[in-house]
Amino acid sequence: MAWQKKDPHVWGEVLIQPGQELDAEVPISESYCGRKVSFPVHIKRGPAPGPTVFVTAAVHGDELNGTAAIRSLIFDPDVQLRCGTLILVPVVNVLGFETHSRYLPDRRDLNRCFPGSANGSQASRLARVVFDEIVGRSDFGIDLHTAAIRRTNFPNVRGDLGNANVRQLAEAFGCDILVDEIGPEGSFRRSATDAGCPTIILEAGEVWKMEQPIVDVTRRGIKNVLQHLEMLGGVRQSRLQFNVVEKTQWIRADHAGFVEFHCELGSRVREGQNLATITTILGRNPVTLVAPMDSIVLGLTTLPVTTPGEPICHLGQVRFQPAMLRTAVIRLSDAA
Ligand SMILES: [Zn+2]
Repeated sequence: MAWQKKDPHVWGEVLIQPGQELDAEVPISESYCGRKVSFPVHIKRGPAPGPTVFVTAAVHGDELNGTAAIRSLIFDPDVQLRCGTLILVPVVNVLGFETHSRYLPDRRDLNRCFPGSANGSQASRLARVVFDEIVGRSDFGIDLHTAAIRRTNFPNVRGDLGNANVRQLAEAFGCDILVDEIGPEGSFRRSATDAGCPTIILEAGEVWKMEQPIVDVTRRGIKNVLQHLEMLGGVRQSRLQFNVVEKTQWIRADHAGFVEFHCELGSRVREGQNLATITTILGRNPVTLVAPMDSIVLGLTTLPVTTPGEPICHLGQVRFQPAMLRTAVIRLSDAA
């Protein structure tokens, strides 16, 4: 694949000077009426040279918590870069965003189309633009997601933890759950990392919502990463311990009915512990789902009703027990 890095300070005809900020538009396509379609970008350049970091959201167009977090960073008085450059993209998949959809109008999942192609499908072309214009200007990346429709995720950071740079970003972010996962073929984080731009994702919350606790965790995590890279001053509010998940499993319903949970999002469960009980609409024939392993509840369905095969509870098996100890001296906080 041809790969050419771009100057993070030149957008169109505009050169961003040290210490300046810029709102820009990146053209991606055309509407049926022939109108230009673009996604908005905000770039902050610090007064001194340093790394360039991108933060993206709504690669899935219905995942809005990350969009809200990025919007808040644009005006955050604490985000005064000491060095480096920050590229903020609140909505990548603007075509899906316009219709409250995870997918593009061609029904493709953008997050399976990276690095994309200039001659490919609608999704593939958008992926290519994102790759060239955003990844092509960046040294590190953070991509923000939520659970898919009718599910919710406890905040967890995912990436190829076997990659030292990815691992450092993931640990710096400050969530207490890290999922060691390179990502599906064609996913943004996997393709960006493969191209030499170590990238993590955050999975947190639900679609179609702006959940303030999730937004707060996200904003804090992004600042933690920027502080880790010494682009921001201040004290990093990261954790001393992490739970590293190496295996995840969805527990699914075998019967239809109503779901009553016995566990909470983010809680630890032991092997054999009751997770949820399903009863018929008339409240009969209770069937209880149990945890097949010691694990953490990463995700839950948000629907109180279910049918056979539907996901109920997403479990993550933790690699290290007790949680791995960090050597760096950082302050504990519940904020991230
Ligand atoms: Zn997503």
